[in-house]
Amino acid sequence: HKVCSPGAPEVHRICVCVRKRPLSQRETNMKDLDIITIPSDNVVMVHESKQKVDLTRYLENQTFCFDHAFDDTASNELVYQFTARPLVESIFRKGMATCFAYGQTGSGKTHTMGGTFSGSLQDCSKGIYALVAQDVFLLLKNATYERLDLRVYGTFFEIYGGKVYDLLNWKKKLQVLEDGHRQMQVVGLQEREVCCVEELLTLVEQGNSCRTSGQTSVNSHSSRSHAVFQIILRSKGKLHGKFSLVDLAGNERGADTAKANRKRQLEGAEINKSLLALKECIRALGQNKSHTPFRASKLTQVLRDSFIGHNSSTCMIATISPGMTSCENTLNTLRYANRVK
Ligand code: ADP
Ligand code: MG
Repeated sequence: HKVCSPGAPEVHRICVCVRKRPLSQRETNMKDLDIITIPSDNVVMVHESKQKVDLTRYLENQTFCFDHAFDDTASNELVYQFTARPLVESIFRKGMATCFAYGQTGSGKTHTMGGTFSGSLQDCSKGIYALVAQDVFLLLKNATYERLDLRVYGTFFEIYGGKVYDLLNWKKKLQVLEDGHRQMQVVGLQEREVCCVEELLTLVEQGNSCRTSGQTSVNSHSSRSHAVFQIILRSKGKLHGKFSLVDLAGNERGADTAKANRKRQLEGAEINKSLLALKECIRALGQNKSHTPFRASKLTQVLRDSFIGHNSSTCMIATISPGMTSCENTLNTLRYANRVK
């Protein structure tokens, strides 16, 4: 694996990776087939199958190339080393970093980010949230950065149906407004100062439990919303750097939502709109286009200051399910990831 590195300050660097999860017990029980192989550390193959998808189409072998491809044996630590880790230092150098987990519900986004909550700190301590938190506090003690007198803050919020909810404040609904400096501000968002890894992880835990509370099934609310956890560095109160870690809403659509009710359809439409806007923004940044369509969705509006300006870098981890039954969604994920790279 080659490490993703932040680019020269004037160009927006994007690193796109794919992570395959193992077949689940449920998939194995129903004799689902693993149709994904990772023949080298940056190639993903979706395998031909003689099985008919519908009346007119048969699946074909397809190959995709990315910055990295991780197979089902890769640990969160390994994925982290090649994705978010190289961006951590940039926030100490007045940079903005963003890491997205993108993929269908059940493909491993939350497993990767570390936003699983079951009442113990150990759960989130294995994911990217915790790994970034650890390295932030390590670097803080580094002689080069110690003299900057940086303080660390955390925020955690959710975007659902185009609205922002504070996960550190009982899902309070918040307004997003543009300030005098053309920056978007989430008004009243709780920003908590933390002085060690454990304190930051307590925020993660608090936000996670708030996120999943009141849910009736695994597939409800939390998979239909984007969760944004941010680690912010301030020097004498002024913004120094920010790392946004985003667990995106499930990208599944079509057959999955066709039989759904009206509420689900509206949710789906909103999610499609925001994921499309995200793709367009990342593409525009990668091509150094003068216009970036931030206004097209709440997600991109809120992340605007992390994307724009000098010294910003992004990585995307596209998570995929290995099974034949997920083939359509997997191909959609791979195509999307292919477009942003
Ligand atoms: P998502 O957030 O994309 O909906 P989850 O992260 O909740 O998906 O993952 C769905 C299930 O698969 C969970 O039970 C999770 O523990 C398991 N899982 C996901 N990725 C992996 C992986 N790489 N290795 C082992 N189990 C995984
Ligand atoms: Mg999830």
